[in-house]
Amino acid sequence: MGASSSADDAYDIVVVGGGITGCASAWRLASDHDVALVEKGQIAGEASGLSAGLISGSKFYPDSPAAAEHIAEFYREFDGTGRFEFTPRNRVGLTIPELADEAREHAAYQAEHGRPVSWLSPAEVREKYPDLDPAGFAGAVEYRDHGWVDPYTLTVTFRDEAEAWGTDVLTGTAVTDVLAGGDRIEGVETEAGTLRADHVVIAAGWRTPHLVSDYVGLPIRPFMLQVVVLDPGWEDGWDTDFPIAHVEHEGVYFRPEHNGNLLVGDGFRDVDHPEAKSAGVDADEQFKQDVARVVPDAISTYDSADVVNTWAGVEGMVPDVQPVVDAPAGAPEGLVVAQASTLGILSAPVTSTAVRSLITGEDAPFSLDRFAADRFDVRTPDWGREELPEYFEEDWD
Ligand SMILES: Cc1cc2nc3c(=O)[nH]c(=O)nc-3n(C[C@H](O)[C@H](O)[C@H](O)COP(=O)(O)OP(=O)(O)OC[C@H]3O[C@@H](n4cnc5c(N)ncnc54)[C@H](O)[C@@H]3O)c2cc1C
Repeated sequence: MGASSSADDAYDIVVVGGGITGCASAWRLASDHDVALVEKGQIAGEASGLSAGLISGSKFYPDSPAAAEHIAEFYREFDGTGRFEFTPRNRVGLTIPELADEAREHAAYQAEHGRPVSWLSPAEVREKYPDLDPAGFAGAVEYRDHGWVDPYTLTVTFRDEAEAWGTDVLTGTAVTDVLAGGDRIEGVETEAGTLRADHVVIAAGWRTPHLVSDYVGLPIRPFMLQVVVLDPGWEDGWDTDFPIAHVEHEGVYFRPEHNGNLLVGDGFRDVDHPEAKSAGVDADEQFKQDVARVVPDAISTYDSADVVNTWAGVEGMVPDVQPVVDAPAGAPEGLVVAQASTLGILSAPVTSTAVRSLITGEDAPFSLDRFAADRFDVRTPDWGREELPEYFEEDWD
């Protein structure tokens, strides 16, 4: 079908947004539905192409082992599809004495629920991960089901697979309105014409609330996340066991790159003018100074490093830092909202399965209740630090 469709040749589903959430959703639906994917810019042109690509299911879904396992299983199985590669790697969360009791409890809880998670003493950290320096830390939480991906390659692999099943992919085409007749969705209005559809999935990142504001209020607030890539100049590259490491109380994490560089990221910051920064800007000076202060102390073999690259992107977040995937009550039938809320790469297997479940009625292997759009007390982006879970307060700089 072309850029416009009439009522007679309507799509089953129009997905709005060509980031990871939209592309993964189109991929989940494409084999047995007639799908259009509409992106105003380029595929993975915003947050999804700027991400650090950490896959940490059991860390961020601690109370939903079924969702964490769905994530871990997906990445193991999808590895090798097209150009996509998953690099399994343990994650080590270095923890200061003030946070140690809580971290030990968290590790014990995870282990009791069958997750491969342990608490390590400083001596155990030194023995297993000689590149890390645990001096000053009470120990670390070790996760053995984590890893990383190149988020751009993953997103375009979803797009390629969906296209191979017949999905029409329209880039450079902004959706300007969601069309409804009475209590049913009818499609979307785009810059290039009307697309008729039985279902519309809004996966437009931090702009999602703007497209659905007639039907549901969502507390999705834009934030900036940043990355610095360092070249530590090691001739032999990293030890192959060099983990993904997180200095928990600073909200700073780092992981090796395949070429021997070190990718360092941190939590999130307020962002002014998100529209101007969405396609990527340089990281700010404050973040670079934080990296220079925190990273050398956590790596035993670090002398100095050159900055190879820096960037920052914009992501929408809700107060409990979990995705919103729902067919909201009171909205026209056929409308689905899918918003990642900061963890969109690792969450793509669950957000896309949830989208498919809402459209087809098939059961998902985890509960969708946690993703409900009406779970918030606040319904606008005007919320503050006190609304966040304690763990994420550390991450708001
Ligand atoms: C520096 C950084 C590091 C990160 N690290 C991690 C990490 O390690 N692990 C992890 O899981 N997550 C990480 N994230 C978060 C992750 O990147 C996001 O959660 C995820 O990419 C969001 O995907 P999305 O598809 O929901 O949104 P986006 O990637 O923002 O995609 C939304 C798309 O919708 C399009 N769009 C918007 N409005 C319209 C419209 N009206 N019509 C058509 N198209 C429209 C936009 O152009 C955009 O391409 C990081 C993010 C950043 C910036």
